[in-house]
Amino acid sequence: MTPVLEIRDLSVDYGQGEGAVHAVSSVNLVLNRGEVLGLAGESGSGKSTLAYAMTRLLPPPGLITGGEVLHHGRDKPEPVDVLGLTPKQLRSFRWNDIAIVFQGAMNSLNPVSTVAAQLEDIYRAHRPEMSRAQRTKRSAELLRLVGISADRLGSYPHQLSGGMRQRVMIAMALALDPEIIIMDEPTTALDVVMQRQILEQMMRLREELGFSVLFITHDISLLVEFSDRIAIMYAGRIVEQAASEDMYRASSHPYSKGLLGSFPALHGPRRPLTGIPGSPPDMRTVPSGCPFHPRCPSAFDVCEREIPVLEKLSGANGDSSRSVACWLNTPSLSGHPGVGAT
Ligand code: ADP
Ligand code: MG
Repeated sequence: MTPVLEIRDLSVDYGQGEGAVHAVSSVNLVLNRGEVLGLAGESGSGKSTLAYAMTRLLPPPGLITGGEVLHHGRDKPEPVDVLGLTPKQLRSFRWNDIAIVFQGAMNSLNPVSTVAAQLEDIYRAHRPEMSRAQRTKRSAELLRLVGISADRLGSYPHQLSGGMRQRVMIAMALALDPEIIIMDEPTTALDVVMQRQILEQMMRLREELGFSVLFITHDISLLVEFSDRIAIMYAGRIVEQAASEDMYRASSHPYSKGLLGSFPALHGPRRPLTGIPGSPPDMRTVPSGCPFHPRCPSAFDVCEREIPVLEKLSGANGDSSRSVACWLNTPSLSGHPGVGAT
């Protein structure tokens, strides 16, 4: 697996000084070429902040306080740090290399412009060499790609259903054939059947076009089904990362277990819904040590004092793709058997 985007030690604050909110703390995350990486966590855990920061779309008072976002471009010999791009380079990076379908994207279509005009605008801005006929042809192709018939090109957003508007947003994201697509809760406003249809389509398009996807959601059950790997975020930190299968079968962090326990099983034996007691922390006053400790059923003394680092698990079954930030995995500290204990 080769990385296409590598987030290193990224930290983001809202505000400065005493009152600063550390919304993202030292996040390390790799998106590999062609994979779907799911990012899950309760509301307020910092998922959107991370997505905005890595695409340099963070609005004030958001401030990147450290880290790197390395883009390994398909034709570039060396990775480039996105955080160091000039405004001109950024414009090309967005759309050409990376495209984003944000939360609430349904409302970001221009209400007074037809679908065709909005698609063609992208080409006019980024592919000035294309003729009018080429733009029209390509726009029709894009719509077809996302499952909308080309006779909808002349429609205005309000004439489309919510699902179709979402598909148009995806078509726009695909317009310049980017390597990376970030989807931040793209389907939460849609009903479950529609969410599934859109995600299935996304997966087919990925097979066809070969892009990588960072899929962000609070609904981990969708990720289990649609992503290759899953990273779980809590209070601004990645607390566990593993292949979807492994995450589903045997998550290691008590928070991941809680998240997975909050949803009904998709396949296989039914299991009781356990959920997680309490609520996510107020990010202005994050608990000491492991921020999850006040809600954790397995917390012990060290959890209250020290922040656990995300470490690769050298598990009994040789599972090295999993990393976890939990003191339970330091057997000498916890007196627990560590990995594999469920
Ligand atoms: P998620 O997408 O996981 O729901 P966000 O990235 O939107 O989480 O928010 C992470 C945290 O950052 C929130 O808990 C909130 O406290 C803080 N936050 C977000 N936006 C702002 C802002 N404009 N000013 C201050 N704090 C903010
Ligand atoms: Mg969000």
